[in-house]
Amino acid sequence: MKYILQKSDPKISYLIAKELRRQEEGMELIPSENYASPAVLEALGSVFTNKYSEGYPGRRYYGGQENVDAIENLALSRAKKLFGAEHCNVQPLSGAPANLAVYSALLKPGDTVLGMDLSCGGHLTHGHPVTLPAKIYHFERYKTEEDGKIDYEKLRKIAKKVKPKILLAGFSSYTRKINYGAFKKIAQEVGAISLFDMAHVAGLVAGKAYPNPIAYFDIVTTTTHKSLRGPRGGMILCKKEFAQAIDKAVFPGLQGGPHENNIASKAVAFGEALLPSFRVYAKQVIVNAKILEKEFKKRKYHLVFGGTDSHMLLIDIVKSRGLTGKQAQDILDEVGITLNKNVIPYDLRGPMDPSGIRLGTPAITTRGMKEGEMKMIVEYIDRAFLASEKPRELKSIRKDVRDLCKQFPVYKKSK
Ligand SMILES: *Cc1c(COP(=O)(O)O)cnc(C)c1O
Repeated sequence: MKYILQKSDPKISYLIAKELRRQEEGMELIPSENYASPAVLEALGSVFTNKYSEGYPGRRYYGGQENVDAIENLALSRAKKLFGAEHCNVQPLSGAPANLAVYSALLKPGDTVLGMDLSCGGHLTHGHPVTLPAKIYHFERYKTEEDGKIDYEKLRKIAKKVKPKILLAGFSSYTRKINYGAFKKIAQEVGAISLFDMAHVAGLVAGKAYPNPIAYFDIVTTTTHKSLRGPRGGMILCKKEFAQAIDKAVFPGLQGGPHENNIASKAVAFGEALLPSFRVYAKQVIVNAKILEKEFKKRKYHLVFGGTDSHMLLIDIVKSRGLTGKQAQDILDEVGITLNKNVIPYDLRGPMDPSGIRLGTPAITTRGMKEGEMKMIVEYIDRAFLASEKPRELKSIRKDVRDLCKQFPVYKKSK
């Protein structure tokens, strides 16, 4: 396959090879990224991309669906087994459309959703004013305390006041566990449907290294490409009573033909996540994050929320090293360490140059890195911040980072 593209479209082939090299030689610390396996990539590039299959298994509009139905049924049964869910929809094209589908399945325009504030870890798709859902539905938000804890009494009071149709939990920069039971109770008290967006932690849940929200929430949405290590995509898991509304909202409500090549690839990823080795992986992701936490604390870095229970750390870098989030991200880019600037709770700075940086361990753990490498990474990061004005020192750190990455190849066979 690679050979064909090299001849037919050398420009694209060149860029793919260059991106592969970037991924192999760089230290990927963006907590929402990962390396999909060669098997996942193979299914994604399969002939299922040629097929139209609007509808659901056994209920399609066009003919020729025997293989598509079998693939989608496999994806569904594996996903349900993996998370213990009653119903599943694997057709959402990504995390954002999955959330939009849930909103449109359950809400009328103007209805209220109560979700976590963006600055405290909530996601853009949880009602940021720039998004379409925010123009259709009414979003209210709750915040964490300065130390990151959620005050469930306060949350209950807000919920009683705003009477949400959906009580939404889930986050993309909140590093702690939340009390699922408390959410469930509050949702029941105010008659809301409970929704958990586990996009970030789905792989940790699948690997049984993080509490499973399925039993506590009516609906759970996720991406499949973050810690779960599948192809880029989304998924909705829910109780039986919501199955019909959810399925109708995804198709024909929002989407046309499902991307069955992507669904085939999801099925492969779920199969991998069902293996015992994935449990070892998920556990190591958290172990590695805890080592990063310890090493940063040793160097007097200020960890937002006090630390982590997951794969992810949020650091107040202004307080820690007198750098803004953007400055810190740019310095680390120079040495081949990729992470992202991020707002922190009650941030006084704007989102384009916030006070925090966010980093995580799913990708580096997939490479096989462990305790020793975590210590080296923190050392490289700290050295880079100290050397920010010294190009020669930065160059030498970049070499160290590359050398370390080379010891942990991602796609061995493609080298
Ligand atoms: C990443 C993420 C999403 C959006 O997923 P996309 O695939 O980028 O659309 C939604 N919710 C949360 C909590 C996320 O972390």
